Amino acid sequence: MILRVEHIGIAVKDMQKANDLFTMLLGQKQYKEERVESEMVTTSFYKTGETKIELLESEAPSSAISKFIEKRGEGIHHIAFEVDDIEAEMVRLREQGVVILSEKPFRGADNKMVCFLHPKSCNGVLVELCQEIK
Ligand code: ZN
Repeated sequence: MILRVEHIGIAVKDMQKANDLFTMLLGQKQYKEERVESEMVTTSFYKTGETKIELLESEAPSSAISKFIEKRGEGIHHIAFEVDDIEAEMVRLREQGVVILSEKPFRGADNKMVCFLHPKSCNGVLVELCQEIK
């Protein structure tokens, strides 16, 4: 089951500058900065009520974030939905013909198992499913 929008991911070119900007916009500092080696990104998280903001900065030209910024510039990169059972959701969505970008869920930032749905299956939006690791 999909529970809520867990966070919105924003691709940024310069994390230092983006952190300064979002700290000003939101009136608070990020509560966590974390590298995700498998994705070649650094992430920075802000709490905004029930939903978080995740800033994403590339660490390598070959990363998905670098390619995204090259093609589309900085901006909203993905929307993440929290789910109660990621494996079950992947099965359910696959049965509906949704293209999922990985065979299995994998470890993402912020203590979560994650997977991504192809934008072509979601009206041009990259969708992340995430489930907290207990
Ligand atoms: Zn995310």
